[in-house]
Amino acid sequence: MQNQDIIIISGPSGAGKSSLCKEAFKYINNLYFSISSTTRKIRDGEIDGVHYNFISEDAFLEGIKNNDFLEWAEVHNNYYGTSKSQVIKALANNKIVLFDIDIQGQRAVKKQYPHSTSIFITTPNKNVLESRLKARDLDSIEVIESRLKHAYNEMQSIESFDYLIINDDFDSSLDAFLSIIKSLQFKNNKLKSKKIYQNWR
Ligand code: 5GP
Repeated sequence: MQNQDIIIISGPSGAGKSSLCKEAFKYINNLYFSISSTTRKIRDGEIDGVHYNFISEDAFLEGIKNNDFLEWAEVHNNYYGTSKSQVIKALANNKIVLFDIDIQGQRAVKKQYPHSTSIFITTPNKNVLESRLKARDLDSIEVIESRLKHAYNEMQSIESFDYLIINDDFDSSLDAFLSIIKSLQFKNNKLKSKKIYQNWR
């Protein structure tokens, strides 16, 4: 298993994770975005099967029972989970798999794939996040409050991430994000060094 070809990104909703992922696809061709399943309601502009697989709570609970998820968590009163089979397939096809999951997911994936790379993406401060969440006009004030509280809690865990991107200026953040992804192809591992050594002789 090429478990070093996994990138986990976490951070508050509104920090720019989705925009960075979307842009990265224009520059890196063997990326694969892990589409999570969720019981959250679909938002305007979202497409089922592209942004998430939007499923019912019953279907989600069935998935848990059948051990279909690599990891799953309850976030903002909704279930979110990563499908095991799609990740295994993508890794087998030599893709770099990108996860946009929360801290609980990051911990679970890191445990199963210790050589994966994790990146925490956030805003310079709470006020910037609050303005962005209000400007995108997708959530009620209550949901925004809950997201800010969740963001504050998640910020306590940034030390456990390999990289940290403060998304103040989008172009600089994209540069940083692409550099991290590109560096993966130079990361060494036992299998790779053994192969190179055999060929080199
Ligand atoms: P949103 O509702 O804004 O799309 O996502 C809310 C939070 O759920 C985000 O922090 C996002 O990273 C997280 N999330 C999305 N999919 C998954 C998943 O499959 N597993 C986990 N643990 N978190 C997820």
